[in-house]
Amino acid sequence: MITSIIQRNLTDIHDCMASACARSGRNAADATLVAVTKYAEWDWVQALAVMHRVFGENRPQQLAERQPLLPEAQWHLIGQLQRNKVRQAVTHADLIHSVDSIRLLQRIADVSTPLMRRPKVLLQVNVSGEATKSGFSVESLRQEWASVLMCAAQVEVQGFMTMAPAHDDPEAARPDFRQLALLRSELADRQDTQAAGLVLPELSMGMSGDFEVAIEEGATLIRVGSRLFQGLSTPVG
Ligand SMILES: *Cc1c(COP(=O)(O)O)cnc(C)c1O
Repeated sequence: MITSIIQRNLTDIHDCMASACARSGRNAADATLVAVTKYAEWDWVQALAVMHRVFGENRPQQLAERQPLLPEAQWHLIGQLQRNKVRQAVTHADLIHSVDSIRLLQRIADVSTPLMRRPKVLLQVNVSGEATKSGFSVESLRQEWASVLMCAAQVEVQGFMTMAPAHDDPEAARPDFRQLALLRSELADRQDTQAAGLVLPELSMGMSGDFEVAIEEGATLIRVGSRLFQGLSTPVG
């Protein structure tokens, strides 16, 4: 029962991803689904793991609990990261999407060096400028780019992540997604970026309501939770 519901949802999402890629002249392999499991029961995750290998968790604690139980999967941290949870995140995440300040990036660099790791991260950009969202503003990212590059030897910055404002109309998110894609190109083309060895291939954008628009605008990672588990209900109490 659980397996067949998830299988159907997953197939639907992959079909929508493939159509969005086709509409925008991209290869289907260019966009990867990150299955967001923050509200998923563990048996749902296990059912999904048979057919899918990339998972995203919001909280470092739940990531640290689940990753060792499915070590063959790829685990991403997509939620806000406090400085005191950095070691946990670096230990258990294959990619951290949510680096929202230079201070946090430097902390990741400091923690990773003695662990002999060069973690992969994305910088979270608050494109819309909503006061309730964390992340670099577009302007602050440009201003602080030299500080980002100073961490490049210890932390592999692979690109950017954004969350579009909640909205009924997915088209409302398109300008933000487009702006982030342009910013990625601008920063990737800079000579100092290339000299630091950063390539910035990844754009993490799009969730259940707007992932097709995000793919049309260049998303390489989409983060989908509720759409993947719709039709399953959490036991009450
Ligand atoms: C929960 C969450 C998602 C997935 O949202 P859905 O609307 O359930 O697909 C994506 N990104 C982040 C950062 C989240 O916290």
